[in-house]
Amino acid sequence: MYLLLILFAFGISGLAALYVKSRIAKYRQIPATSGLSGAETAQHILRASNIYDVSIVPANGLMGDHYNPATKTVALSPDVYNGRSTAAVGIAAHECGHAIQHQQAYGPLQLRGAVVGITQFSSSLFYPIMLVMFMHIISPHVGYSIMAVVAMIIMGFQLLTLPVEFDASNRAKRLLPQLGIINGPAEAHAVSSVLNAAALTYVAAFLVSLVNVLYYLTMAGDRRR
Ligand SMILES: [Zn+2]
Repeated sequence: MYLLLILFAFGISGLAALYVKSRIAKYRQIPATSGLSGAETAQHILRASNIYDVSIVPANGLMGDHYNPATKTVALSPDVYNGRSTAAVGIAAHECGHAIQHQQAYGPLQLRGAVVGITQFSSSLFYPIMLVMFMHIISPHVGYSIMAVVAMIIMGFQLLTLPVEFDASNRAKRLLPQLGIINGPAEAHAVSSVLNAAALTYVAAFLVSLVNVLYYLTMAGDRRR
């Protein structure tokens, strides 16, 4: 039963990842009529939002596109930074959405920032707990109970990520036509397709974390005696 749930959850996240790849591949072919690159789009959106202390940099390594609130940088992968497609401007605008959230002290972003430390710390406990449990230092019931709590903290973090991501995409969908970076329903549809597909991956990550919680709770319950 749980094996099926786990397969289902990982299947969903795999499919979501493939889906977002296919959307980006498709809309990378469709140019935005303004002719702006992703980097220029980001510049334009930040200026229009009166943000002057955020820099736009090429993303290095495996990090991909993201906004870093600590360094106040919008990092864009080469395809997005230089690209002039609807996919590129959509992703660039989404990352600027996070910069705007930061500037406006958007509640869910603040909250997520506040719990990121405890989430990382509790995640790091996972394997040590498993180890002491298999060494019979703690009982399986205690071990799985602690792992269930860790899984719940991770699930809470994934849940907080959802409004942050949806809001950043909504800002992008609103700002791009407003600033004339995309024009007409076809370009709006292209941007929505890419951003909605990306949102699905976050929903999938939440589902995986939910299945994990159920799994460890069940294991803790089974090992009570
Ligand atoms: Zn995002």
